[in-house]
Amino acid sequence: MAPLDAYRELVERTRKIATLHSCAELLGWEERTTMPRGGAGHRAAQLGLLAGLAHQWLVDPRMGALLAALEDSPLTADPAGVEAANLREIRRRHQRATRLPQALVEEIAQTTSLAQGEWQEARRRSEVKRFLPWLEKIVGLVRRVAGHIGYDGEPYDALLDEYEPGATTAEVTRIFDALRPELVALNRKIASAPRKPDAAIVQRAFDPERQKIFGEMVAAAMGFDFARGRLDVTTHPFCAGIGPGDTRITTRYNPRRLNDALFGIMHEAGHALYEMGLDKATHFGTPLGEAVSLGIHESQSRLWENQVGRSRAFWAYFYPQAQRIFREALADVSLEDFYGAVNHSAPSLIRVEADEATYNLHIMLRFELERALVKADLAPADIPEEWNRRFRDYLGIEVPDDARGCLQDIHWSTGGIGYFPTYTLGNLYAAQFFDQARRDLPDLDRELAQGRMSGLREWLREKIHRHGSRYPAGELVRRVTGAPLSPQPLVSYLNRKFGGIYGF
Ligand code: ZN
Repeated sequence: MAPLDAYRELVERTRKIATLHSCAELLGWEERTTMPRGGAGHRAAQLGLLAGLAHQWLVDPRMGALLAALEDSPLTADPAGVEAANLREIRRRHQRATRLPQALVEEIAQTTSLAQGEWQEARRRSEVKRFLPWLEKIVGLVRRVAGHIGYDGEPYDALLDEYEPGATTAEVTRIFDALRPELVALNRKIASAPRKPDAAIVQRAFDPERQKIFGEMVAAAMGFDFARGRLDVTTHPFCAGIGPGDTRITTRYNPRRLNDALFGIMHEAGHALYEMGLDKATHFGTPLGEAVSLGIHESQSRLWENQVGRSRAFWAYFYPQAQRIFREALADVSLEDFYGAVNHSAPSLIRVEADEATYNLHIMLRFELERALVKADLAPADIPEEWNRRFRDYLGIEVPDDARGCLQDIHWSTGGIGYFPTYTLGNLYAAQFFDQARRDLPDLDRELAQGRMSGLREWLREKIHRHGSRYPAGELVRRVTGAPLSPQPLVSYLNRKFGGIYGF
């Protein structure tokens, strides 16, 4: 078969799979926004059917034959060319899917579906013993997955690769090991700082209707296109890239906390700008038109949420607007006090509520425990004790119960071992990208202080979004910033920022 014909057929098949996934994405969005509770059973059947079909199409022997026909073809001469990049990623997905025996895939689906119910109940009662046998089963299953997928370094590599293709456990460990003492030191400085912002300012009464108006105004200023997207309300906020011209985000409004919905909207809109900036017109349904990794996706949401949304420059423009909209709550609050309040930092028990200075310590703890579980260096039964010990070490607080300790996250019950590091990788990428944006856009702070965010958005689109999966994440970082991923930009950013607010 001529390479070009094989390539065309492969792309056509990959597009069909992507279109099927986008149908599932839409059903998933509908399930979380408007579906009546009674529809849950049938929705599970619909989603199961689509997932099964997509898997069948991906492992189809014809896909394998087409990939084999394209091995060492002249089409892949330029590794960053469209064809080579698409083939690299399609081959990776096909191999992952075909290496797993059907029986194992089904066992994982059944076990994790039961485990999620058990986890919910265990968390509700704070009874970790109830969940530990399930954790043991799941660790056993993912260890078998790693064995089938294969790895060069250690089994965790095979799991991490699912979420952050190309990243290795050794590299993540090296970066996290350098980051951890810096963060512990930063948090000690914050704890003993002479100045403390008043967090209560952002816990006054903020009318949800007005929060919606303000949030939509900020999202629109960021460049979220409401003709090609929408914003709805859900319990757990998310972003769904349905397809070309259709990217949806959700949030939730807390009448006593301004931060939740506002920074949640900026976070999800950051994800959405990445989806909207992908070249879907040309590359929809192929890796070139898709995000490269979860870490890079998270870098886009974090950059808008933190580097922009929690910056003084951003509030120089938006605070007077906020004061107009939330007149009663903010009339007596200065810009400086408000800026301090949105950045208030303190160690806390729950990861999803953690601030910028403490968040990554929550992730490192989980990564270290996961890695030890998968290596069989740690028994699932020892997780609660080991969790609490590290929590005391890193964050300086006692875990009062397992519901607020090792039972707080859903990830392990879904089999998502290997996922957590992508959150901190996202924060690291974001800091390194933003440093580079500052170098490339010397007027960036002034633009943000005038409410102009298009310069930054276009920079991100040009440097990151439009490439899709053309470059693996590590290479993308090197191309954009001229250096491999390093903990230093994040460490400097956090010290500079919190030093300014807390006066150290
Ligand atoms: Zn996110």
